[in-house]
Amino acid sequence: MKFLQQLNINNTNQGVSTGTHWIESKGNLIESYSPVDGKLIGSVVSTDITSYQKVMATATKAFEEWRMIPAPKRGEIVRQIGDALREQKEPLGQLVSYEMGKSLQEGLGEVQEMIDICDFAVGLSRQLYGLTMHSERPLHRMYEQWHPLGVVGIISAFNFPVAVWAWNAALAWVCGNVCIWKPSEKTPLCGIAVQNIVAEVFKKNNVPEGVNCLVQGAREVGEWMSNDTNIPLMSATGSTRMGKALSVAVAARLGKTILELGGNNAIIISKDADLDMALVGAVFGAVGTAGQRCTTTRRLIIHEDVYEVFKQKLVNAYKQIKIGNPLDATNHVGPLIDKDAVAMYLNAIEQGKQQGANFIVEGKLVDGFESGCYVQPCIAEASNEMQIVQHETFAPILYLMKYKTIDEAIAMQNGAPQGLSSSMFTLNMREAELFLSHKGSDCGIANINIGTSGAEIGGAFGGEKETGGGRESGSDAWKAYMRRQTNTLNWGSTLPLAQGIKFDF
Ligand code: NAD
Repeated sequence: MKFLQQLNINNTNQGVSTGTHWIESKGNLIESYSPVDGKLIGSVVSTDITSYQKVMATATKAFEEWRMIPAPKRGEIVRQIGDALREQKEPLGQLVSYEMGKSLQEGLGEVQEMIDICDFAVGLSRQLYGLTMHSERPLHRMYEQWHPLGVVGIISAFNFPVAVWAWNAALAWVCGNVCIWKPSEKTPLCGIAVQNIVAEVFKKNNVPEGVNCLVQGAREVGEWMSNDTNIPLMSATGSTRMGKALSVAVAARLGKTILELGGNNAIIISKDADLDMALVGAVFGAVGTAGQRCTTTRRLIIHEDVYEVFKQKLVNAYKQIKIGNPLDATNHVGPLIDKDAVAMYLNAIEQGKQQGANFIVEGKLVDGFESGCYVQPCIAEASNEMQIVQHETFAPILYLMKYKTIDEAIAMQNGAPQGLSSSMFTLNMREAELFLSHKGSDCGIANINIGTSGAEIGGAFGGEKETGGGRESGSDAWKAYMRRQTNTLNWGSTLPLAQGIKFDF
């Protein structure tokens, strides 16, 4: 395949890198099969403990140099990475689509997000502002500064195999940190491709070896990182199960975390909604990326007056959904990541039925695809309290429920352990404001007349409760990648103490 050559991906790739060099490892081979057609794309050598330690030593040393390069100069290098990504957008987008199974448009969109965050980070490199305060003591100056943390560990999930890395790395770098990235073991080749692209830019700019490190492997490698006191900040994206394990390990050594975990996102559809707009938001949110976005719409909370009408519209829309090869732009829904994901989807449907969910669009494995990973997006009428509804199943299963009052709808929306994205479709201004108020949605993202998925990089991205509380990407999310230092400088000739304390001798 041409895009593999363009991205310098071979049949067997070294998996451990300190930037421009690949480091030998005796780790296992990870084979990457495409969920699109079931074919082996290539394989990657996973990181063993010796190569991990080499990477860590190189990264720690690189930090000493990198942190002293002025932030705008670091920003200039990130600008060049954005340009390199622009040049490689097509092949990288194709690889994302082929290795992960999302549509080509979404694969390209993911690369666009990487480019956008690079642009954002370039501007940010000149805006790492601290505050100046007025000291209570005469001839004193008080202010705060932001310093880099050191080595930032990045663990990412399969469903955003490249964008999540960029959200973290672009910001971490301009802040003066160095990064070690462990991509998902389900999408290791995306990691290799990104490493190759960045290496070219780093070579041209003589960036010290160790600023951009890649390790490969599954949970075990992630655990080495979580337990490693050389990593002051772990930014981890994945399931709540992973986040619970990782946060305990990092907290035990009093490290910092940014956690971006599971979602269970709902749209409230008011009787005052523009139902046609709501339909687009709901269908795209529920079936886009085959239900494998952290922001996927999993629950629809619909006012009883419009419930039947909306349900009918939804069922009609689902009849028109085309399932097939995601590289073909005429298809709406591609495959799940692997057969394990298919098994989880089928199991959730079975459990839903046992718990009383009424499937109005049945779910099943779609025959005729070599990979065995294509499934039918399905819809069930259910109640919010059902165990299966409270759980994030990473597949296109949508639950419908009815409400009478807006307070009841908000309580249902908030009545889930996760708190990532939420939305309400309404043309009623009071309802909209209530939803966005302190009495409204308890999620990190709350939208009006926009679905739950498709966040822009300019805002801080993340969620509450079991979603982990982390924020990445825009706004002032950069502060999580730095340490704050308060400085007081006395330029007078006496030493007055704070709080009026006298210490005469
Ligand atoms: P996963 O939890 O299985 O794996 C995610 C990453 O964590 C992988 O790199 C994996 O190797 C690593 N890992 C697993 N256990 C670990 C441990 N104990 N210690 C350290 N690392 C460990 O998740 P997945 O199946 O790849 O992705 C799907 C999940 O990710 C969903 O729950 C989805 O909602 C979530 N997600 C959240 C966001 C967000 O921003 N909130 C974004 C994307 C995906």
